Amino acid sequence: MALLSVVLPAYNEEQNIENTARVLSELLNRHGIDYELVFISDGSVDGTFQEIQRAAARDPRVKGAEFSRNFGKEAAIFAGLELAAGDAVIVMDCDLQHPPETIPQMWKLWQEGAEIVEGIKKNRGRESIFYRLSAGLFYKIMSRLIRMDMSSTSDFKLLDRKVVKVLLELPERNTFFRALTFWAGFRTERVEYEVQERQFGESKWSFFSLMRYAVTNATSFSTLPLQAVTVMGMISLIFSAILAVQTLVRYVTGTAVEGFTTVILLLLIIGGFLMVSLGIIGHYIARIYEEVKGRPKYIISRTTENVPETAKGIWRK
Ligand code: UDP
Ligand code: MG
Repeated sequence: MALLSVVLPAYNEEQNIENTARVLSELLNRHGIDYELVFISDGSVDGTFQEIQRAAARDPRVKGAEFSRNFGKEAAIFAGLELAAGDAVIVMDCDLQHPPETIPQMWKLWQEGAEIVEGIKKNRGRESIFYRLSAGLFYKIMSRLIRMDMSSTSDFKLLDRKVVKVLLELPERNTFFRALTFWAGFRTERVEYEVQERQFGESKWSFFSLMRYAVTNATSFSTLPLQAVTVMGMISLIFSAILAVQTLVRYVTGTAVEGFTTVILLLLIIGGFLMVSLGIIGHYIARIYEEVKGRPKYIISRTTENVPETAKGIWRK
């Protein structure tokens, strides 16, 4: 019988683990789906891993690992994929904001031959106006940059073993799970779901972590910002050509001297262009630097006992 792995990244979610494990077990049992739950505690500072261990003791189909520090949700997702043994793997948040009732639909589509089932947000849950606007802008830019429609996609997905294998073999350190499944291709189906309210605890994203996430992902999927540097250069080149002619004409006709304002403005504009360009290039160099260092995406410090020893070698690559 086919096995379904559910991967659940968890960062300081001690209040959620027990409830989530229970809800998922009940649901999957009811639908007669053979499953395992893979919780990855992302360097939590509360009792998340203890809760995972407790859940694993109650139900051997629950397993989990703890990171040595907070590596971020992307890393936790990839660790979960690495640990998952299922023929199909579902990634979902462990705060149940991704409604579990969607799982049987995804499973059914997979059985009918889908290799990726994308969870599509029907609504965006309760978010502040500011968050909504910035997320909207981010997805607009991202969709443009990577030429895929990213709005209303999420990390709630089902992946066939084939797709998991492809993702795990990617050599890059900086991954963007949400877009990588689009990039990978495969037979994709979609299911819509309503984002639920978070029951316990609070959102783990701050304004700055979201900004960092946005910039990192945008640049890991596109080199367009680098080309923007060229465009800026072109624009200032055209302007300088025009101004050069004007300056020469004035010099020849003997009406030079004036134009102090122009000089200041030009200095400021060119200085601005240069610094922004250096910043963009610097950012890409930093990303290259991170990639060539080749450090692992995450470090696992502990696992539950039912994680086979053979799986552990893979994490040390
Ligand atoms: N998460 C994680 N590492 C982090 C931040 C979040 O593993 O550094 C997990 C978190 O435990 C949750 C999921 O990612 O299961 C989504 O996070 P959250 O609910 O805080 O985000 P939101 O739903 O508000 O977008
Ligand atoms: Mg959430």
